[in-house]
Amino acid sequence: MRVDHSVINAMNKRNVISIIREQGPINKAEIARLVGLSIPTIMRLTDELLEKNLIRETGKRESTGGKPPLLLEFTPDSHFIIGVDIGTTHIKTIVMNMVADIVCRIEIPTLAAEQSGKVIGRIVETISQAIGKVNAPLSRYLGIGLGMPGLLDAGCGRVLFSPAFKWENVDLTGPIKSRFGLPVYMTNVTRAMAVGEKWFGLAKDVENFMCINLGYGIGSAIVINNRLYGGSSDSSGEFGHMTLEKNGPQCSCGNHGCLEALASANAMSKKAAFLIERGETSAILDLAGGEMTQINAKHIFDAARSGDRLGKELVSEATEYIGIAISGIVNLIDPELIILEGGVANAGPILLDGIQRIVERRQMKYAGRKLRIVASEIGEDAAAIGAAAVLIGELVDHGGNRSKT
Ligand SMILES: [Zn+2]
Repeated sequence: MRVDHSVINAMNKRNVISIIREQGPINKAEIARLVGLSIPTIMRLTDELLEKNLIRETGKRESTGGKPPLLLEFTPDSHFIIGVDIGTTHIKTIVMNMVADIVCRIEIPTLAAEQSGKVIGRIVETISQAIGKVNAPLSRYLGIGLGMPGLLDAGCGRVLFSPAFKWENVDLTGPIKSRFGLPVYMTNVTRAMAVGEKWFGLAKDVENFMCINLGYGIGSAIVINNRLYGGSSDSSGEFGHMTLEKNGPQCSCGNHGCLEALASANAMSKKAAFLIERGETSAILDLAGGEMTQINAKHIFDAARSGDRLGKELVSEATEYIGIAISGIVNLIDPELIILEGGVANAGPILLDGIQRIVERRQMKYAGRKLRIVASEIGEDAAAIGAAAVLIGELVDHGGNRSKT
């Protein structure tokens, strides 16, 4: 049998770095014991990580005799990573250290309807402002991670198709690389969130899970055996574009009746405005300051919580569609954990309990017995932190070489 040593090496390195991150300061012998590798192998891997400054040597622990062992720890502040959440409404750029402490955050409107060049110009602008604020030399930055909605060719740095942005075949990483000269790595925004959950969030110890991003649109990321599942053409996870109603409303992707066209924040807001315009009375309009165009999902959930009839109806309809779609996923891939991400995921029990109820009713008997459905605890920076975490993962696995090409 042929063994792919580069994959094993990358896996070992990941294990070593997570042990140091979670249990450091720690010595090499303990790492070897915990990871189950020989001390010479651990020495080779830690030398490599030391050289990249991902870990550092720290003081020697008191010893009961003999040579005190040198301890290793994760380097929190020696380097920074930039994470950019390219959202449909806002571009958010963060600078974080190696343990996900955010040292700077810049947020501006995306104005996604403008041409791609202008939007990319604004992304560059936020990065440049963030770097200016942190006031550390560029050499201390490991790179820039971008989280972008849609289907991407990460290797070429191109956005193949992003319905929310109406972009097709746009070079996103090129202009950013040439401006800053740093490694730039682009990932689908929900996949970035999944990587963030694995490094810093609720999925730290979970091997098979899914992130479902409930925001302006709906996306997902599938992690199987600790690795993102991409699919044969790397387009997996388009959970929001599963057809749930054959004659449903048209979706941004061109199809009709997609989950996203039925239950996303955008779909809910559109439906609320439509029904209110047709004469329904609802507290939703008051919550939106009397402005039909300002109605958003938060107003709808707030109205539902206060007992508003239309609010309750819209929330129950959206949670039903989302629950039906999740029950299908549970039957299909049996994840241990589903983490809800995005603005809508913050809605609390009204959303979570509703989805839970539908999934229990719809999933096949005995399927998904270990499943837990939870809301992310990383908070509103999940996408930006995740995009930055993807870059850490790339550096650990490939020494940053792949992201420089
Ligand atoms: Zn669609």
